[in-house]
Parts: sequence; C-alpha cells; structure tokens
Amino acid sequence: MRVAILSSEAVPFAKTGGLADVAGALPKALSENGEDAMLLLPLFEQIDRKYLREEIIDNLDVDWRGRSYRARVFYSDATGAPSFLIDAPEYFARNSIYGFRDDHERFAFFCRAALALFKRLGAPPDIVHLNDWPGGFAAAEIRSRRNFDSYYARTRTLFSIHNLAYQGAFNASDLWILGFGDDVRDAFMMDGTASALKAGLMTSDALSTVSRRYAFEIQTPEFGHGLEWILRARRDRLVGITNGVDYDVWNPATDPHLPAHYDINNMDGKRECKRALLREFWLPEDLDRPIIANISRLTAQKGYDLIKEAGGAILETGAFFVALGSGASEYEDFLQAMRDHAPRQVGIYKGFNEPLAHRIEAGADIFLMPSLFEPCGLNQMYSTRYGTVPVVRATGGLDDTVQDFDRVSQTGNGFKFEHYTALAMLDKIYEALYCYAEPDLWRTIQLNGMRVDNSWRAAAQKYIELYRRVAQM
Ligand code: ADP
Repeated sequence: MRVAILSSEAVPFAKTGGLADVAGALPKALSENGEDAMLLLPLFEQIDRKYLREEIIDNLDVDWRGRSYRARVFYSDATGAPSFLIDAPEYFARNSIYGFRDDHERFAFFCRAALALFKRLGAPPDIVHLNDWPGGFAAAEIRSRRNFDSYYARTRTLFSIHNLAYQGAFNASDLWILGFGDDVRDAFMMDGTASALKAGLMTSDALSTVSRRYAFEIQTPEFGHGLEWILRARRDRLVGITNGVDYDVWNPATDPHLPAHYDINNMDGKRECKRALLREFWLPEDLDRPIIANISRLTAQKGYDLIKEAGGAILETGAFFVALGSGASEYEDFLQAMRDHAPRQVGIYKGFNEPLAHRIEAGADIFLMPSLFEPCGLNQMYSTRYGTVPVVRATGGLDDTVQDFDRVSQTGNGFKFEHYTALAMLDKIYEALYCYAEPDLWRTIQLNGMRVDNSWRAAAQKYIELYRRVAQM
C-alpha cells in the first residue's frame, strides 16, 4: 500500500508537541512493516539543514491564488522513512511553526503543494493520512477533485485527530481565495466562520484519534468543542489507536541525553540521573527525597490550574518539584513564583528543551500529569519506561495507558484520579508518596511500568489494518 502522511510537525525536524513524535515514528514503523510510506512536511526555517539529503525538485508548480507558485522540494531520510519537505519561504521561513495570522493560508498552501507533489512522484497514494486541522484542506480538496480528476479516483483519506481543541478557524471569505468552491463550502462552515478541522472531519473517508477513550469522549459536549455531533454521526468511521513510543529515542538504556544509563535489571543509573538532575537545577543532593516533575505545554489543557491550586500543598509534602514548559504567562508566572518562594525545593526551566525533557524523565521519581483532557499523552508512557511513576487524571489516553496501583494484587503502573479537582489530585500524590517511602513497593510499581510494551510495532499494525479497511471504502 502506498501511504502518504501529511503533518505540520515531525521529529527530528520540528516539534511543538506529541503530533511530532507520532509523525516522526509512524512512517518508520510502517516502512519496517513493508509498507510504502512517506512523510510530507513544510520546510520551516527552524529545521536543521543537516537533515536534508538533496533537493529533488526545484520547480514544483502549485496552482495557487490564481497563479502558479513555484516551490522546491527536499528529500530526507532522517526519520528512517522517505520524507519530502516543501520549501516555500514566503510561508515557512518564519521563526515558529504556528501562531501567524495567515496560518490557514500557510497550511492550505502546504496541502495544495503536497497534492501537486503526488502527481510529480507518480502513482497516486492509496491512503493520504492527514493530521489535525492543517490537514483539513487536503481532505476537502481530494474529496472535491475525485469528481473530475481520475488520478484521485482510488485515493482514500484518513483524518487523525490529535487534539480537537485546535480548529484552524479563519474568515469564510478567504475560502474562495484559497480555491475552495461551493461543493465543499458547507463542510468548512461553522458558526459563520470557516474551520479547517471541521472540513477534515466532514470530508475525509475515515477518522481516527489517538486513544480509545478519547474516541468516546469527543462524541460528548464536554470534550467535543462543538463538533461532537459530527463525530457521533460518523462514529462508524471513527477508531481510537493509542500512540506508540519510539523506543529508539526514548530508552533509558541507550538515551544519549542521559548522564548514566539503566534498565530493568539494574537501576543504579537512575540514581545517578537523579543526582545530576538535582545538580542541574541547583537543588540539594538529597537523593532520598522524591522529585515530582512535569513537562508540558503550559496550557489549561494540561491541568495547570490544579497544580496552581495545590502548589502550596505539594511543597508541604517536602518533595522536590521540577517543571519544564512554556506557554501561557499565567502559568509561567506561577512557576516562577513557586521557585522564588522555595528555591531549594523547586526547579523550573521556561522554554522548550528536548534533551532536558529526557533528563527529567530519567531523574524524577513521580511524573504529574493532571490533564483536563488528553487525547493520548506521551509523557506518561515515557515515564513508565524510565521508571518514573505517573500520577495522572483518568482522561483520554491517560486513562488507557495508566493503571492505578493496587497494593493487594501489586498490579498497576501509576496512580490515577477521576475528578478534576486539586483535592482528588493531592490524594493521589499523597498515596504515591506513601508508596515511595516503601522502597520495595516502589520498585514493584516502577518495574510494572518499565515492563509495559508501548512500542510502535503494535500501533503501526493497527494503522495498517485500518488503512486496508479505508482503502476498500
Ligand atoms: P501534547 O501533544 O498535547 O503537547 P503529549 O504528551 O502528547 O502532549 O506530547 C508532548 C511532547 O512534547 C512530549 O514529547 C514532551 O516531552 C514534549 N514537550 C512538551 N513541552 C516541552 C518542553 N517545554 N520542552 C521539551 N519537550 C516538551
């Protein structure tokens, strides 16, 4: 099967969140399974040119806004699968991936250029796998072209929802400028504005999301962001496939970012990682005190309101608190205040720092992830692999991948609470800390987590089965 995956971010090229981890790992896993998979991505300014192997096309003519726009295409195999990066400096030579007024135009262009590239490369893809709102334009366009362009007659689209909260909204009067006509206009329209996400949900042949529980949740008003009615109507075309973890990148036995290595048979290296982490944050080298950590985009989604509310109580436990993140100033200021209040107990790093994320996963004891909603979540899976015990809220992928520890049966790889309240979260933090105080028990929880196999092998197999079904639609 010929599969083309379009993404706005992918490791190692460009990343803001979990989508990049998925888009980097899935094509490789598919290729390893013998599928003909390729990745398409915009060539953002921030992408390290060392990943590019060669310029393969210097004259990709894209039909754009009434004229022909000439883009270039670079080839890379840095993910382990063929990747094509579309170079259009006007749109992508900027200092970040998202956040511009013309984002809708930028990603609409990316989609149109991707379609032009398919034709240049030869045979049409069987499956075009689109991810989040930037892919919505391609879903609509392929649906529309199927009516008159035989090249797309057998191509089917799969639209994956990594986060329903980002909708790619824009002024509806731009639709015709971007080349979308009456046949797909309704698919875009939502409350008087256009939404690229809605177009993706309406016009793709099949839908998937990144955990089973999130697939159910988004059919409800609480999690549906106003789109639950579409997801309910199309639920026979919606499946949940939990993301895998790229263990080539996230493996404490080989991780190049760590000061020491360890595995299930010998955990000594984890203690060294903890020592180094405390040093890195200028914290006292008290190795018996637990470190509670968090790495995330600082948004309400990640449960930072609970952490804010419970900050004082967390410090009263005596544990260290270490956080890495950037985002809303409200939460950045809170972290700064917490650190100023207890500089010998709190370590913070404001910004995006991938190597540090690895060192925190290895050096911490407890990973706190009290998300309000969480389509899949990756850090809880990185944590279990690194022997760091997750404390999570039972939502989305967190609920699917973390099992609450049970003292009697000694089963479970973490701690999880239901209600989105600071008290419910604190209860679980206390329970985790009580277990931490019993080293043998703690080791059991750590090993329960380290033994779980969340590799891409199983997830890729599920995507392949799904692609086969979608190709028949
Ligand atoms: P989301 O996609 O909603 O941000 P996920 O848990 O699925 O959440 O994935 C987040 C990914 O981004 C993880 O790989 C995490 O380590 C990484 N990440 C988030 N914030 C930062 C940061 N400030 N520095 C480094 N990595 C980060």
